[in-house]
Amino acid sequence: DLKRPESLQEMVNDTVNLLQTQAKLKNIQIVVEQPIVESIYCDKSQIKQVFLNIVKNAIEAMEEPGKITISVQNTNDYVNIHISDEGPGIPEEILHKLGEPFFTTKQNGTGLGIMISKNIMEDHHGSLEIYKNKEKGSTFKLSFPKELKKI
Ligand code: ADP
Ligand code: MG
Repeated sequence: DLKRPESLQEMVNDTVNLLQTQAKLKNIQIVVEQPIVESIYCDKSQIKQVFLNIVKNAIEAMEEPGKITISVQNTNDYVNIHISDEGPGIPEEILHKLGEPFFTTKQNGTGLGIMISKNIMEDHHGSLEIYKNKEKGSTFKLSFPKELKKI
Protein backbone atom coordinates (compact mmCIF):
# COMPACT_ATOMS: atom_id res chain seq x y z
CA ASP A 1 0.00 0.00 0.00
CA LEU A 2 1.43 3.34 -1.05
CA LYS A 3 -0.81 5.64 0.98
CA ARG A 4 0.93 8.39 2.92
CA PRO A 5 0.36 12.10 3.61
CA GLU A 6 0.77 14.03 0.37
CA SER A 7 0.46 17.71 -0.51
CA LEU A 8 -2.65 18.46 -2.55
CA GLN A 9 -1.00 21.54 -4.00
CA GLU A 10 1.87 19.47 -5.36
CA MET A 11 -0.42 16.91 -6.98
CA VAL A 12 -2.57 19.65 -8.53
CA ASN A 13 0.52 21.49 -9.82
CA ASP A 14 1.95 18.30 -11.35
CA THR A 15 -1.34 17.68 -13.15
CA VAL A 16 -1.64 21.25 -14.42
CA ASN A 17 1.94 21.16 -15.70
CA LEU A 18 1.27 17.92 -17.58
CA LEU A 19 -1.80 19.36 -19.32
CA GLN A 20 -0.60 22.92 -19.86
CA THR A 21 0.47 22.43 -23.49
CA GLN A 22 -2.81 20.80 -24.46
CA ALA A 23 -4.74 23.59 -22.72
CA LYS A 24 -2.77 26.43 -24.33
CA LEU A 25 -3.35 24.96 -27.80
CA LYS A 26 -7.07 25.54 -27.23
CA ASN A 27 -6.60 28.90 -25.48
CA ILE A 28 -7.76 27.48 -22.21
CA GLN A 29 -6.41 28.90 -19.00
CA ILE A 30 -6.14 26.64 -15.96
CA VAL A 31 -6.46 28.69 -12.80
CA VAL A 32 -5.81 27.44 -9.28
CA GLU A 33 -7.87 29.92 -7.26
CA GLN A 34 -5.98 29.93 -3.99
CA PRO A 35 -3.06 28.14 -2.35
CA ILE A 36 -4.06 24.63 -1.29
CA VAL A 37 -2.40 24.05 2.06
CA GLU A 38 -4.02 20.74 2.96
CA SER A 39 -2.35 17.36 2.81
CA ILE A 40 -4.33 14.16 2.36
CA TYR A 41 -3.58 10.55 3.12
CA CYS A 42 -3.39 8.93 -0.30
CA ASP A 43 -1.64 7.02 -3.02
CA LYS A 44 -0.15 9.97 -4.90
CA SER A 45 -0.01 8.40 -8.36
CA GLN A 46 -3.65 7.31 -8.13
CA ILE A 47 -4.91 10.71 -7.02
CA LYS A 48 -2.87 12.41 -9.74
CA GLN A 49 -4.58 10.03 -12.19
CA VAL A 50 -7.97 11.27 -10.93
CA PHE A 51 -6.98 14.94 -11.38
CA LEU A 52 -5.58 14.12 -14.81
CA ASN A 53 -8.78 12.35 -15.96
CA ILE A 54 -11.02 15.19 -14.84
CA VAL A 55 -8.98 18.15 -16.03
CA LYS A 56 -8.37 16.38 -19.36
CA ASN A 57 -12.13 15.87 -19.76
CA ALA A 58 -12.63 19.56 -18.99
CA ILE A 59 -10.16 20.58 -21.71
CA GLU A 60 -11.76 18.19 -24.19
CA ALA A 61 -15.25 19.52 -23.38
CA MET A 62 -14.38 23.16 -24.10
CA GLU A 63 -14.82 24.20 -27.73
CA GLU A 64 -14.04 27.86 -27.11
CA PRO A 65 -11.32 29.72 -25.23
CA GLY A 66 -12.04 29.98 -21.55
CA LYS A 67 -11.10 28.98 -18.06
CA ILE A 68 -10.84 25.85 -15.97
CA THR A 69 -10.96 26.76 -12.30
CA ILE A 70 -9.59 24.61 -9.50
CA SER A 71 -10.58 25.64 -5.99
CA VAL A 72 -10.51 24.21 -2.50
CA GLN A 73 -13.19 24.25 0.18
CA ASN A 74 -12.99 22.86 3.70
CA THR A 75 -15.67 21.31 5.87
CA ASN A 76 -15.15 19.76 9.31
CA ASP A 77 -14.38 16.33 7.95
CA TYR A 78 -13.52 16.81 4.29
CA VAL A 79 -11.28 18.75 1.96
CA ASN A 80 -13.19 19.35 -1.26
CA ILE A 81 -11.51 20.14 -4.54
CA HIS A 82 -13.79 21.65 -7.19
CA ILE A 83 -12.82 21.53 -10.84
CA SER A 84 -15.08 23.74 -13.00
CA ASP A 85 -15.06 24.18 -16.75
CA GLU A 86 -16.85 26.43 -19.23
CA GLY A 87 -17.80 23.67 -21.64
CA PRO A 88 -21.34 22.79 -22.74
CA GLY A 89 -22.16 21.13 -19.42
CA ILE A 90 -23.66 17.69 -19.06
CA PRO A 91 -27.23 17.15 -20.27
CA GLU A 92 -29.58 16.03 -17.47
CA GLU A 93 -30.44 12.83 -19.32
CA ILE A 94 -26.85 11.56 -19.39
CA LEU A 95 -25.68 12.86 -16.02
CA HIS A 96 -26.49 9.54 -14.31
CA LYS A 97 -24.66 7.55 -16.98
CA LEU A 98 -21.30 9.16 -16.27
CA GLY A 99 -19.16 6.61 -14.51
CA GLU A 100 -20.82 3.64 -16.16
CA PRO A 101 -18.07 1.62 -17.80
CA PHE A 102 -17.61 2.43 -21.50
CA PHE A 103 -20.10 5.31 -21.52
CA THR A 104 -18.58 7.89 -23.83
CA THR A 105 -19.82 10.58 -26.21
CA LYS A 106 -16.43 10.89 -27.89
CA GLN A 107 -15.34 9.49 -31.23
CA ASN A 108 -12.27 7.90 -29.67
CA GLY A 109 -13.32 7.84 -26.03
CA THR A 110 -12.92 4.85 -23.75
CA GLY A 111 -15.58 5.84 -21.25
CA LEU A 112 -13.39 4.64 -18.43
CA GLY A 113 -11.91 7.83 -16.95
CA ILE A 114 -14.78 8.75 -14.63
CA MET A 115 -15.41 5.16 -13.57
CA ILE A 116 -11.75 4.68 -12.64
CA SER A 117 -11.72 8.04 -10.85
CA LYS A 118 -14.81 7.12 -8.81
CA ASN A 119 -13.24 3.81 -7.84
CA ILE A 120 -10.02 5.50 -6.75
CA MET A 121 -11.96 8.06 -4.68
CA GLU A 122 -13.95 5.29 -2.98
CA ASP A 123 -10.76 3.42 -2.23
CA HIS A 124 -9.67 6.62 -0.42
CA HIS A 125 -12.95 6.84 1.53
CA GLY A 126 -13.83 9.90 -0.50
CA SER A 127 -16.22 10.64 -3.35
CA LEU A 128 -16.62 12.16 -6.78
CA GLU A 129 -19.76 14.17 -7.55
CA ILE A 130 -20.71 15.80 -10.81
CA TYR A 131 -22.83 18.93 -11.27
CA LYS A 132 -24.12 20.95 -14.19
CA ASN A 133 -23.29 24.61 -13.58
CA LYS A 134 -26.07 27.25 -13.58
CA GLU A 135 -24.35 29.52 -16.10
CA LYS A 136 -22.30 27.16 -18.23
CA GLY A 137 -20.11 24.12 -17.96
CA SER A 138 -19.82 21.55 -15.23
CA THR A 139 -18.18 21.08 -11.88
CA PHE A 140 -16.52 17.96 -10.58
CA LYS A 141 -16.28 17.80 -6.80
CA LEU A 142 -13.68 15.56 -5.19
CA SER A 143 -14.07 15.00 -1.44
CA PHE A 144 -11.17 13.71 0.62
CA PRO A 145 -11.52 12.71 4.27
CA LYS A 146 -9.32 14.87 6.52
CA GLU A 147 -8.61 12.30 9.14
CA LEU A 148 -5.25 10.72 8.37
CA LYS A 149 -6.30 7.21 9.15
CA LYS A 150 -4.70 4.11 7.70
CA ILE A 151 -7.12 2.98 5.02
P1 ADP B 1 -14.01 9.49 -22.11
O1 ADP B 1 -13.30 10.77 -21.77
O2 ADP B 1 -13.11 8.46 -22.66
O3 ADP B 1 -15.24 9.73 -22.95
P2 ADP B 1 -14.80 9.55 -19.33
O4 ADP B 1 -15.24 8.48 -18.39
O5 ADP B 1 -13.61 10.35 -18.96
O6 ADP B 1 -14.55 8.84 -20.73
O7 ADP B 1 -16.02 10.53 -19.62
C1 ADP B 1 -17.27 9.98 -20.03
C2 ADP B 1 -18.17 11.01 -20.70
O8 ADP B 1 -18.56 12.00 -19.76
C3 ADP B 1 -17.50 11.80 -21.82
O9 ADP B 1 -17.51 11.11 -23.03
C4 ADP B 1 -18.38 13.05 -21.87
O10 ADP B 1 -19.57 12.81 -22.59
C5 ADP B 1 -18.78 13.24 -20.41
N1 ADP B 1 -17.96 14.26 -19.74
C6 ADP B 1 -16.92 14.03 -18.92
N2 ADP B 1 -16.39 15.17 -18.46
C7 ADP B 1 -17.12 16.18 -19.01
C8 ADP B 1 -17.09 17.61 -18.93
N3 ADP B 1 -16.17 18.26 -18.18
N4 ADP B 1 -18.02 18.31 -19.63
C9 ADP B 1 -18.96 17.67 -20.38
N5 ADP B 1 -19.05 16.33 -20.49
C10 ADP B 1 -18.14 15.58 -19.82
MG1 MG C 1 -11.95 11.05 -20.17
